[in-house]
Amino acid sequence: MKVQNNSVVSIHYTLTNDSGEVLDSSEGKDPLKYLHGAGNIIPGLENELLDCVVGDSKQVTVQPKDGYGELNEQLVQKLPTEAFGGIDKIEEGMEFQAEGPDGSAQYVVVTKVEEDGITIDGNHALAGQVLNFDVSVVEVRDATETEIEHGHVH
Ligand code: ZN
Repeated sequence: MKVQNNSVVSIHYTLTNDSGEVLDSSEGKDPLKYLHGAGNIIPGLENELLDCVVGDSKQVTVQPKDGYGELNEQLVQKLPTEAFGGIDKIEEGMEFQAEGPDGSAQYVVVTKVEEDGITIDGNHALAGQVLNFDVSVVEVRDATETEIEHGHVH
């Protein structure tokens, strides 16, 4: 059975950046299951899995525009320390949930702590990065009607 829209696909993958550093991997875990054609995974990877069959292995390079997007400078902001009143100690790498411009929840990470302010970054951690996937297809099946309706795997 070939991977097509409305297939439920199980994959094992290892994700490395351009320096060869492993960013994420399904090794030692259950394979990742996704509904093909529903935007569950980044487009650059999804497109390359079309027509694959069980047992296929591939190396896929994904540019930022087909991955987590380009870095958006507007999502990087320096805020006065008072804006974090009530939190004992702010450290680089801390994550907060903030309200985005459209009112939706947005995750930001503290990237710099200085005396005159704190810099936060709302970009996805993988934005602006070229991503290299080693991916293998473990299972392919047809999605159920409910899964297609919901747009995700049950
Ligand atoms: Zn559901």
